[in-house]
Amino acid sequence: MAAQNIINSIEFARKALEIHGTIPVSQFPRLQDAYASADGALNWRLLGNVNDGKPTLQLKVSGDLGLTCQRCLEAMSYNIDISTLYYLVPDEDAIPSEEEDLDDRDYLVAETHMQVSELIEDEVLLAMPLAPKHEQEDCAVKGDRLELGKPNPFAVLQGLKSGKHRD
Ligand SMILES: [Zn+2]
Repeated sequence: MAAQNIINSIEFARKALEIHGTIPVSQFPRLQDAYASADGALNWRLLGNVNDGKPTLQLKVSGDLGLTCQRCLEAMSYNIDISTLYYLVPDEDAIPSEEEDLDDRDYLVAETHMQVSELIEDEVLLAMPLAPKHEQEDCAVKGDRLELGKPNPFAVLQGLKSGKHRD
């Protein structure tokens, strides 16, 4: 059973606390909805800290997801490796606009009862490709035929060439 990790984010940062765990992807409903075959488990670590007098949270998530390649529809493994530093702010109004945010930081509204698994799921969804695909050389479907919806003459030519090619 994965515990529901709920933290007081400001306190967590100021005390420089640290928690970590492993979550099966089956506990991420939105990820499962978007990537029906999402499988596997993700390791995560959350570190509190204070940077320049400002409370921060650093989230690290890593692991391999089992997805379906959108080109050949076969299984593929997708590696997740995320590290994000959030500056905690009291409310949405305290988040600087893009022009003001010269350091291009990530901000997070502080909560007294923040559910860590939701933050992890948000980050993973942001990091996911819209249509996960094998690398071209690993994919069962060669060329871009499925994506273009009609045969790409160039890809057909390449297929002919690689059929005869021997090294
Ligand atoms: Zn593929």
